[in-house]
Amino acid sequence: MREDAGTGAGSSRSGVGVEAVAPGSPADRAGIVAGDRILSVSGHPVEDLLDLHFLTSRRRFTLAWRDASGAGRKKEFRLEGETPGIFPEPIRVRRCRNRCIFCFVHQLPKGLRRTLYVKDEDVRLSFLHGQYVTFSDLSDEEAAKIVRYRLSPLYVSIHTTDPELRRRMLGNPRAADVMVVMRRLIRAGIVLHGQIVVCPGINDGAELARSLRELSGLRPGLRTVAVVPVGLTSHRTGLPPLRPVTRDQARETVDLLNALGKELGKSADGEPFAVAADEYFLMTGRDIPGRRSYGSFAQIENGVGLVRRFRDEAISLFRRKRWPGGAEEGTVVTGRSAARLVAGFLEEFSSRAGTRFFAVPVVNRLMGESVTVTGLLGGSDIVGGVRGKVRGTLYIPSVTLRDAGDLFLDGLSPGDISKQTGSPVVLFEPTPRGFLDAVYPRNRPEYH
Ligand code: SF4
Repeated sequence: MREDAGTGAGSSRSGVGVEAVAPGSPADRAGIVAGDRILSVSGHPVEDLLDLHFLTSRRRFTLAWRDASGAGRKKEFRLEGETPGIFPEPIRVRRCRNRCIFCFVHQLPKGLRRTLYVKDEDVRLSFLHGQYVTFSDLSDEEAAKIVRYRLSPLYVSIHTTDPELRRRMLGNPRAADVMVVMRRLIRAGIVLHGQIVVCPGINDGAELARSLRELSGLRPGLRTVAVVPVGLTSHRTGLPPLRPVTRDQARETVDLLNALGKELGKSADGEPFAVAADEYFLMTGRDIPGRRSYGSFAQIENGVGLVRRFRDEAISLFRRKRWPGGAEEGTVVTGRSAARLVAGFLEEFSSRAGTRFFAVPVVNRLMGESVTVTGLLGGSDIVGGVRGKVRGTLYIPSVTLRDAGDLFLDGLSPGDISKQTGSPVVLFEPTPRGFLDAVYPRNRPEYH
């Protein structure tokens, strides 16, 4: 039904743009098409995809939108177990106003793709994708929306519970007291996970223990806190001086977290509170803790428990009795921190597959040699690192690709790497199962 009044047609940028409509869906039947703008649902203004999602999750509602001609339209929907079928435009990301002393964006070399320099602070992305927010300037409206839509769990960068120290670490003298914000959200039933980026001499040691003890008072609303070492690149010109975490400091932090783990205990359902990033164990060479130490693996996206999950998946993979034949030898790219883990896995894998796979640890020259994780290698690092060492196919972990998933950090493509190394390139998800699928493909894409 076409209407010219009563839709609150608003300005040309109000509402949420429609990127696509599912064929045959209720929205399609109502005449909504890509390029229209959804303005309100049952009289409630729609500002973003979360409004759209939650307001249209009822069975009955009235949708008001503006079509490409600028005319306002309105339609009542009655849904029987289906969704409206509207694919909204991507979120316009809210930018961060902090200048954290350790911000990775400030430490990037020049000349990378523009999207890599975006600093976001968006609770919607925290809810949808587990990205961390600082709550340094959360407005009352945003807090009300978190509670209204029950955006839970959310992921919070805490760093310290000392408000003054935290403001210094965030480089934001006006940052809100995170404890006050977290208490308010927890009281409203929102579940939080936190992280502390540990900077030697600033928030480590006794300060870290003090913060974690204070944070434990927010349990069970604050479920877990990941403790991760600061990452420093060689592009810190003009930034506050920071020291990298040494092996001894990594040991001290692991010991401290072990002691605190005993003191604070686990939640009733077995969730540990303060958990150390895998990087600490890789740095110290200590054994990775068992599966139970990671509870529900709630912080795995933050590099906590990835190695344990990799090992467990490898054990179950190597229990297979039948192993396909026909594998050909290959060379596998890895960052330096995971090199031992990957080499050990490939040795066992090679013996099952009846051929040889070799790990090549690659030094990161794009970010600096102190950056050792695989995901931050540039394409040119890989080319330089494997030169003269490739046997067979070159396998590259897909975590090295960014954004659209087809380019490395420095803009090289897998095809470029294949040309420059003279080897076929295969990307793989960096898990034992992902590697198996890449080696024994049905429709494996190869780059030449
Ligand atoms: S919160 Fe800090 S680390 Fe995160 S984007 Fe902003 S300045 Fe960078």
